[in-house]
Amino acid sequence: MEDKNIIELHGIGQKRAELFRKRGINTLSELLYFFPRTHEDRTQFKSIADCAENEEVCICAEVYTPVSMFRVRKNMTISQMTVTDDSGMLQIVWYNNRFVKGQYHTGEKYVIYGKVVRDKYGKRQMVNPILEHEGKEQFTGKIVPIYPLSGNLTQKVVQSVMETAIKEAGRIDEYIPDFIRQKYSIAEINYAMKNIHFPDDANSYNIARRRFVFEELLILQLALLSRKDITNENSGIVFEDIKCVNDFIAELPFSLTNAQRRTLDEILYDCNNGKVMNRLVQGDVGSGKTAVAAAAIYTAVKNGHQAAMMAPTEILAKQHKETLDGFFEGMGIKTVLLTGGMRQSDKKEVYELIKSGVVDVVIGTHALIQDELQFDDLAFVVTDEQHRFGVEQRATLLSKGNNPHMLIMSATPIPRTLALILYGDLDISIIDELPPGRKEVKTYAVGENMRQRIYAFLEKSVLAHMQAYIVCPLVEDTEKSDLENAVDLCEKLKLRFPKFSIGLMHGKMKAKEKEEVMSEFSKGNIDILVSTTVIEVGVNVPNANIMVIENAERFGLSQLHQLRGRVGRGNEQAYCIMFAHGNNEVTKKRMETMCISNDGFYISEQDLKLRGPGDFFGTRQHGLPQMHIANLFSDSDILKEVQTASKEIIEGGYLKKKEFSPLLKRIDKILTDNIVMN
Ligand code: ADP
Ligand code: MG
Repeated sequence: MEDKNIIELHGIGQKRAELFRKRGINTLSELLYFFPRTHEDRTQFKSIADCAENEEVCICAEVYTPVSMFRVRKNMTISQMTVTDDSGMLQIVWYNNRFVKGQYHTGEKYVIYGKVVRDKYGKRQMVNPILEHEGKEQFTGKIVPIYPLSGNLTQKVVQSVMETAIKEAGRIDEYIPDFIRQKYSIAEINYAMKNIHFPDDANSYNIARRRFVFEELLILQLALLSRKDITNENSGIVFEDIKCVNDFIAELPFSLTNAQRRTLDEILYDCNNGKVMNRLVQGDVGSGKTAVAAAAIYTAVKNGHQAAMMAPTEILAKQHKETLDGFFEGMGIKTVLLTGGMRQSDKKEVYELIKSGVVDVVIGTHALIQDELQFDDLAFVVTDEQHRFGVEQRATLLSKGNNPHMLIMSATPIPRTLALILYGDLDISIIDELPPGRKEVKTYAVGENMRQRIYAFLEKSVLAHMQAYIVCPLVEDTEKSDLENAVDLCEKLKLRFPKFSIGLMHGKMKAKEKEEVMSEFSKGNIDILVSTTVIEVGVNVPNANIMVIENAERFGLSQLHQLRGRVGRGNEQAYCIMFAHGNNEVTKKRMETMCISNDGFYISEQDLKLRGPGDFFGTRQHGLPQMHIANLFSDSDILKEVQTASKEIIEGGYLKKKEFSPLLKRIDKILTDNIVMN
């Protein structure tokens, strides 16, 4: 198939082309890949007498009385006509539609598709049905695609343009090599393209859908995998003595959980076996990832090497330095901090210490990837990713050693299926167990009517020397929004609680200012901190036990869970109170999920489930491209097959073969379209 501009298609002029362009559809192939949201089965013809209530049906009937229109009140007109077949009469009703009057004439026959309902007098009617002249009809009597539209494009236009497009496309070239299609039972593209839009029946639609889900996931997975050569045969640095880790464990003030122990074993096994480790450790906030990383770093150092740990912010880097120093006390391990904010002369000194091997462990921010920094013998790299570092950044840090091992810590639990695709180039360890004795954060979703009671609770708690976070979706007032904003709420609370110290923190403040506020809060000089989500990545304040979230309906589930993870870090019972507005079913389900569970893995799975395709959580957060058809929750079976297929393709070196070049082009395209993935 030659791709072409949609304007060259029959039935598309400048105006329509512009409407499609607004939807991101410029070319014939983009049009073909604009898939329907659902289908309507208009193959089921019924007689008027047989129509069940609330069922979508097709009838074939003739106009009995033509359209009459009347005004029921200002801004509201009703138009109606009566149609009949041999079995009975039915009323057709339109609200506020001036165009139908005079359109339908007595005796004309139409195919009518819609839902039969009863009006308040018990009379049967169809409201706003689809009418097509009998004989001329294109889309009744078929299974008809319904596209995800908004704005001025109508279903009818898209449907008929799509029919033309499929005809004019002619033969579409196959992207997926035959042997893969045969092995995984994937339909051929021309069959699939016709049936994804205009299926003959439900079965052919399913076959077509499976093909495009497979295709979409395969391209994504291959793109992610090809960023890195997983056939990397480099031999890794071998830590000869991994038993020494027991000396570290013996000194810990607690015993490791089973999940921590298992993760540590997986790490040390890799480091002992000549592999270059690339491992993601996933675990909820507080699951003890840092302790595991410290144990591994200890082992690296005791085997005579250096280690580095990179955090996304200065606050976190400092916090990690303190934590590690605590763990390593009396063990003869030298650590140093390196951040961008340090004085040039101090940095120089640190560079020297690292290069000469005097220092064993360096902890820092992006400052670690500066050219000036050189190591004596870097063997182990840890990145703490509240937000993912780019692959480039990781690679730069890794290049400072000779194939060092890499450990990536993520506190954003995601379902295994999604982790496998996002981090397809990594091995994964999961810490799915919290240290014993942790109390769950008691969580409540409340309405506005509870506000005074919640404030009374806040007052009582602060008087008992606890601290609270209040999170708002917005920084400041904007005219268009009735969402709570941090600046105004802070002022309101100052009036409501004149004796308390109320702090304010948001993303428009300078990093230095934010750090100052955070440090005052952590010292206990601020009682209530009003903030935007910038506290998601923040320091540990064990005395902060209450989190109030305003407009909780505006946050994703995983984000709410992250926010809630800021409290419950001390010994007291912690609370999370979410003000949620609106009666939306999905919102209700999400709030309920938060209230019944403290388990990040469960929550993220629900998050994925409650969102539709193309909108699953973290698409943007993780820098994944928009999915057109695949749903990473419900299509996890296909995803598994794709993972096997991708491995096969990469390991067999197939991507270099000629028959794979069309697929490779698509892979390159999504890599260039999605910079974050690089
Ligand atoms: P994460 O990095 O996963 O959020 P941390 O490593 O910061 O978690 O651990 C949170 C807290 O729990 C720290 O104070 C840490 O010392 C403590 N901790 C870690 N592992 C255990 C354990 N097995 N038993 C008890 N406390 C632990
Ligand atoms: Mg941590």
